[in-house]
Amino acid sequence: MEKKTLDERYGDEVLTDNTALKHFEQCKDCLFRDKTSVQNKECGWNKGCCKMYPYPETKPHEVYKNAEPCEYYEKEKALLKINFQKCFFHGVL
Ligand code: SF4
Repeated sequence: MEKKTLDERYGDEVLTDNTALKHFEQCKDCLFRDKTSVQNKECGWNKGCCKMYPYPETKPHEVYKNAEPCEYYEKEKALLKINFQKCFFHGVL
C-alpha cells in the first residue's frame, strides 16, 4: 500500500489559526522568558519552558491559560534607546 503525503491527506482541510489563541500572556515581558526570535520577531515567550521552569520542567498550566499569576514573574525593565548621534548634535554628550 502506498503511503500518502501530508499534503495529500490534509490538503483540503482548513487548519486552525493558532495565532488567535492567547497563551502565556504574562510571559511576554517577563525577565525570565526565553528570548528566541524568528525573523526578528520575538516568540520564545510562547514556549513551555523558561529560565524559572527549565526543560524538562514546564510552565504551570495556570500560566498557560492565563488563569493565575506566575509566582516568579518579574517585569523586564525596558532598555533605554539612546540616539547618540542626536544627543551629540544637541550637546547632551
Ligand atoms: S517565570 Fe513565570 S511569567 Fe516568567 S516566563 Fe517563566 S512562567 Fe512566564
